[in-house]
Amino acid sequence: MSVFSTRAFNKHEQVVFCSDPTSGLRAIIAIHSTVLGPAVGGCRFWDYAAIHHNASPELANARAEEDAIFDVLRLSRGMSYKNAMAGLRLGGGKSIIMGDPRKVKNPALLRSFGAQINRLGGRYYTAEDMGIKPQDLELVHEQTDYVVGLESGDFATGDPSPHTALGVFVGIRAAVQYKLKREDLNGVTVAIQGVGNVGREVANQLRNAGAKIIISDIVRDNIERVLADGEATVVEGDQILTVDADVFAPCAMGGVLNSRTIPNLKAKVVAGSANNVLDDEISDGQELLKRGILYAPDYVINAGGIISVETEVHKEKLDHKARAAKIVRIGDTLKEVFAASDSKGRPTGLIANEIAEKRIEDERQAMQTAAQ
Ligand code: NAD
Repeated sequence: MSVFSTRAFNKHEQVVFCSDPTSGLRAIIAIHSTVLGPAVGGCRFWDYAAIHHNASPELANARAEEDAIFDVLRLSRGMSYKNAMAGLRLGGGKSIIMGDPRKVKNPALLRSFGAQINRLGGRYYTAEDMGIKPQDLELVHEQTDYVVGLESGDFATGDPSPHTALGVFVGIRAAVQYKLKREDLNGVTVAIQGVGNVGREVANQLRNAGAKIIISDIVRDNIERVLADGEATVVEGDQILTVDADVFAPCAMGGVLNSRTIPNLKAKVVAGSANNVLDDEISDGQELLKRGILYAPDYVINAGGIISVETEVHKEKLDHKARAAKIVRIGDTLKEVFAASDSKGRPTGLIANEIAEKRIEDERQAMQTAAQ
């Protein structure tokens, strides 16, 4: 099993493998960079062995470990880029607890995970991600202060989802202004895939701005909640990718845009909250560019949630207005990325990567100079 030679390894500062046989904890914490500040990124509790169910248990476990290492390395680098692009005093990290949360999650395991984070002395702060709920974070918090997105406490910033939704809304508006030359969203049609925590709030904000919305979700209750809020057209399954719409807003899972789905996309703008929307960031990004479809890079447009927790990490009093202003700036950052992409003829995702890498490298060099 390799770490340094995997494709996703990219100058990571530290990768920690944690195990506690008593509680069953098996976790990996990856700190990509602490140049801009302490590394921050959520904890994902995921059963990486599930997709290898046809293999022998030994092989399934080995493959699951490889997948988890790949994921934690890739996601932690993504957090460094996200935080750098949002202009935050935060570095990038991520953690993964391996196993099916419905089967192996228990209070002792979460406390043990908290103790592991505490040993890192504040180099890494954790938060919610897939498979982790607010009450789980409270158990982690019993063992460490290095947890953010908490509901209570002196510096608590609460659920990040509404802030992610605000960022996605301003990001859609910026992309529509840039690509479709429309000043506002009145009459613009947006197809939203997934109306959970973020997607539902995005739907509400779009509707308030006069947009027409088309929605899809695999959970009927979530669709009903949006219909209870106001008008929306509902479509089934993958139809959301091919409907007549100005904007496609992926707010469910990653990998939805790939060589199979991109040719059928009618929207001229892709802007939503889902992470890793492009199956292959290079070839799919190039294909979108070739087809004249403007892609708002995922980690730039979905940064509202991480912007929301910045003050909690630095133990500063939350200023609601300053937080909202920072989130609204996502629109300007996106327009800078779009303009650079146009002038260089390169995909927006690669442009964003380059800007983020340069910010981190400039700061690293400034720190080195200051230390000399
Ligand atoms: P969520 O689980 O609350 O909502 C996701 C919704 O997508 C659910 O309603 C689910 O039923 C639906 N869904 C799943 N598969 C689908 C499919 N094939 N077609 C249609 N709908 C489908 O999650 P969320 O917190 O709203 O996050 C949405 C996305 O945004 C995720 O990719 C997440 O990683 C990303 N994101 C969220 C935040 C945040 O603050 N919550 C921050 C950054 C990125």
